[in-house]
Amino acid sequence: MYLDHAATTPIRPEARDALIKALDEFGGNASGTHAIARAAKNALEEARERAGEILGASRPDEIVFTSGGTESDNLGVVGTVQASDRSHLVTSQIEHKAVVESAGFLEASGHRLTTVGCDDDGAISPDAVAEVVDADTAVVSIMAANNEVGTVTPIAEVAAAARASDDGVVVHTDAVQAFVGADVTTRSTGADLISLSAHKFGGPKGVGLLYVRSGVPLEPTVYGGGQEAGRRSGTSNVPAIVAMVAAMEATAADRERFARVVGGERDRFEAVLVDRVPSVVVTAASAERLPQFSHVRLAGHQAETTLIRMDQSGVYAAAGSACQSGAVEPSHVLTAMGFDATEAGESVRFTFGWPTRTGDGEAAAHAVADVLGGAR
Ligand code: PLP
Repeated sequence: MYLDHAATTPIRPEARDALIKALDEFGGNASGTHAIARAAKNALEEARERAGEILGASRPDEIVFTSGGTESDNLGVVGTVQASDRSHLVTSQIEHKAVVESAGFLEASGHRLTTVGCDDDGAISPDAVAEVVDADTAVVSIMAANNEVGTVTPIAEVAAAARASDDGVVVHTDAVQAFVGADVTTRSTGADLISLSAHKFGGPKGVGLLYVRSGVPLEPTVYGGGQEAGRRSGTSNVPAIVAMVAAMEATAADRERFARVVGGERDRFEAVLVDRVPSVVVTAASAERLPQFSHVRLAGHQAETTLIRMDQSGVYAAAGSACQSGAVEPSHVLTAMGFDATEAGESVRFTFGWPTRTGDGEAAAHAVADVLGGAR
């Protein structure tokens, strides 16, 4: 019972087929000049066009292919700040470490960093962002949806509020989790830069992209042969890129069904789990959440122990707290949401995905309740 789709989700059949075909057909180096290289280059540029269309790009060259969400976030945050003559950046307390650590690197190298908080549900307020943006702000980087609890950010409003404070600001959004269950485009987010990672939506691991609106100055963070119009060097992983775009298309085409079926199973999971184990508290239950996310506090049950027992029963989920250097530290996201160490230590993230089918939510709830010994 795989309930950890936010960590990574199985490859979609469309992406798998595209990957295998591309491994056979586009084995050349897309930077070369002969026919084999040109075939790979053509596949790469066709993938760029299709990715741009899905995201609502105005030109294909607004798509920069990367090695995944971490690299896209690094390029989106570090690359824009380093290309700017401004020195301030704004992020939130609940960003993924890829943004947190990129911002920390910039702060350590002399930039000014402001980190906005969130409410108890993990929602970030556009007003809170607008308040801290000034004429020296180079970039605002706020995630489109949180990867621990699934709360959706009103990112278009955040972008508009940031620009109302200063229209020279660049807006980056980490949409790595949001793309799976929400309509993520340049229009719907209002962002100048959007990070995506293929393995979160049914593409292969180790490939992603950064949408960069034309005219936004960007310094590379990886130097070398000048691929991706000088914005990201390194031989293009054409088969993985082609497969990622196939997964993007399948994901975009599947959104209505996904929201209905997967969201329905998530709701059923929570209803049955709370019915069988009344001490369960659903996190951000009344907030706007991605349909695939269920983050819960299993009051009185240590998450670490619960995860081991679930693992032994074939139920795979993730903790709401991260283990660092052997010590279990409360997650920075839950801490920002006001959880104390005990509450954070009892929190578990269950995430559904495209393979989830009718009945899976109820079955998962019974499996978890059985592990908790909550059978009535
Ligand atoms: N951003 C968010 C919100 C994520 O959830 C993740 C993955 O956990 C990443 C970035 C990093 O993506 P990748 O695993 O492709 O490096």
